[in-house]
Amino acid sequence: MENSNNYKLALWPAVLHAKCPRCRRGNMFANSMYGFHGQTMNTTCSHCGLTFEREPGYFYVAMFVSYALNVAQMVTAAVAISILTGSDNPWVYVTIILALAVILSPFNFRYSRVALLYWLTPGLHYHPEMSQDKIN
Ligand SMILES: [Zn+2]
Repeated sequence: MENSNNYKLALWPAVLHAKCPRCRRGNMFANSMYGFHGQTMNTTCSHCGLTFEREPGYFYVAMFVSYALNVAQMVTAAVAISILTGSDNPWVYVTIILALAVILSPFNFRYSRVALLYWLTPGLHYHPEMSQDKIN
């Protein structure tokens, strides 16, 4: 493993794998997105010790991010259904969009929290020096 002073991990792989926003090494979640036991979030980062829930109830804010993701997905799905099927039966839209919302809910749960910590939390930034194998 490389261990130089300019050790820097890329943003998008860290976001995709739900890594800690401060060190991009530790996992935010303890298990997979589509498991049978629901998603469990780690309390702190295993690498740098960051507490993910910044204050009690902090992840309520992620509901608004999740809502925005849902609306974007539903509008995209409605346009796609209209283009692909040309249907004017509302039940086609309702059925497909609701099924999609259920299927995508674990995705939205996870990435709304990731987006909240990466882009909407003041004072929480990437610290490349914390990506190193040893923390000084
Ligand atoms: Zn960390």
